[in-house]
Parts: sequence; C-alpha cells; structure tokens
Amino acid sequence: MELKTIVLPKRYNYIGVFLTLRCTLGCSYCINHYDALDCREHQLDAEEWLHGLNRLTTRDDLPITLQGGEPTLHPDFYTIVNGLRPDLPTDLLTNLQFDVDEFMTRISPDRFKREAPYASIRVSFHPERMEIGALKEKVLKLMANGYSVGIWGVNHPAHVDQVEGACRECRDSGIDFRIKEFLGEYNGRFWGTYSYPGSLSKKDNAPVQCRTSELLIGPGGNLHRCHSDLYGGRQPYGSLLDPALVVEDIFRPCDAYGFCNPCDVKTKTNRFQEFGHTSVDIRFSENEGSMEGMPS
Ligand code: SF4
Ligand code: SF4
Repeated sequence: MELKTIVLPKRYNYIGVFLTLRCTLGCSYCINHYDALDCREHQLDAEEWLHGLNRLTTRDDLPITLQGGEPTLHPDFYTIVNGLRPDLPTDLLTNLQFDVDEFMTRISPDRFKREAPYASIRVSFHPERMEIGALKEKVLKLMANGYSVGIWGVNHPAHVDQVEGACRECRDSGIDFRIKEFLGEYNGRFWGTYSYPGSLSKKDNAPVQCRTSELLIGPGGNLHRCHSDLYGGRQPYGSLLDPALVVEDIFRPCDAYGFCNPCDVKTKTNRFQEFGHTSVDIRFSENEGSMEGMPS
C-alpha cells in the first residue's frame, strides 16, 4: 500500500532512527541503560524500514540519523542504507567495531555527506572497550577514501585523561575529535547540565505536559515522545508504518516526569552547534515546581 508522505513540524530539529537497541560493547555508562532497557520492541526488516523512512520529507539541515545501540548490527543494515532515497540526508552514529573495508565496498562516501558543522559519520570512543590507536587508523582510512567522519568522546570522570589524550592524538592526525559532557551518576554525584533538574529525581510527580522537538523512531517503527519512553518501552504515540500518520507539534500529557532520560532534558547544542537547546519543553501545573528534586 502507498503510504502518505510525512511532513515534520518546522520546529523539529532531529530525526533519530534506532535501527536496533542492541550493542555488543556494554559500556558501563551507556545512556541507553540509564534505566532498565526494554529491547522487546519488534525489529523492522529492510523492506519495512524503507517503506517508512522513504515517506519522510526533510531538509538538508535535518538528516535522518541512524543510531542505536549499534545500528550496524541490524542484519539488513547495508540494504537499508542503500535503499534510502538518494535525496534523504543521512547521518550515522556508530562505535565503528565493524569491517571498514566491507563498509567502503558497500556504501558510497556520498551517502553520508552533507554541508554541516560536524561529520556525518560520528564515531564514539569508549576507553573502557577500545584502543584509540586502532580506532584512529580506521577513521583515517575512511577519511582517506572520502568519508565524512569524526570521533566523539565522553568526559566521564573516570576516563578524563584517556579521552583528553585521545583527543590530542587524533587532532594531531587531522581528525575532528570532540568531547561531550558525561550525563548520569558517578561516585555519588550527578553529572551534566539540565534544563529541568527535577525531571531526574526518580520520584513520582504530578502529571506534566511535554512537547518534543525530535522525531524518535524505535526499532519497530514506533514513534516515541522521548528517549525515556523509547528505552523504557512505554506506549508509543504513533507508528512510521501508519498509512495516515501525521506528526503533530503538540504537548502530550505525561505521568512519568521524574523518570526522564538525561538525553531529553540536558542543555545542549542544536544542529547549528548553538548552546542552550533542550529537546523537550515541559509545562507544569500551577502548584508544581520544575526545578525541584535534583539528585545529588
Ligand atoms: S558503544 Fe554506545 S550504544 Fe554501545 S554500549 Fe557503548 S555507549 Fe552504549
Ligand atoms: S516529561 Fe520526561 S518522561 Fe515525560 S515525555 Fe517528557 S521527557 Fe519523556
């Protein structure tokens, strides 16, 4: 059946396509495991993904971002990437633990390439699980063959020296290495900069109204209000495969405030690399404070 084109609200600034939530690395600080991760959502195959994703109308500065988990673990990864409409700008978030020679044979550099202030293939560096030397060689090989690649490391307090050392080493080799803020708890302290600190209290709160600026698509094609809903397996608000789908820019009621994911409420840069953006807007009832209950 022919599905209706999906036009996104103008305010939307991110499209996250979670091909799978699985990952073989198991980093101790993985944000997907901030709360219990529910991986039971049925996983779409290539035909279903392409049927759904190729309906999207987007803009040059609003790519679809293939991510996970580790998106390359999807058994149809190459079929999906090569079946996307050529005019659909596409980015990839990956830990690069795959065979880059096979990747270069099967995917053109132009597939992940567009005008942007950051690389289209964004590789995550995890000092717990990988050596920077081997990762750097893979990235240099991709760059030499025309791919748009950069590395991102997290300034986790236990790995600051390794990440800063890797950053220096990579930049000396001409690699765009950026360092992201660590989000979450470590050694009894909560790290990160947040717009709604009470959202992380892990205490029940009065219902709120929440509006997202991101299209988050789970492995089964379900559309989620936020990362907390996606990872926690809460009821989605729609499906990519719904023939009549309309994505509305609206506030939706939520009774899970307090159990938000740091990704949704952190203060961050937008796609123009401007700081001060938050993925969701949250409205409180008159008697509720938005900033109370920050975990210590
Ligand atoms: S590589 Fe990324 S998705 Fe995989 S466990 Fe580490 S942080 Fe999580
Ligand atoms: S209030 Fe928190 S849990 Fe609820 S939809 Fe918004 S970000 Fe998600």
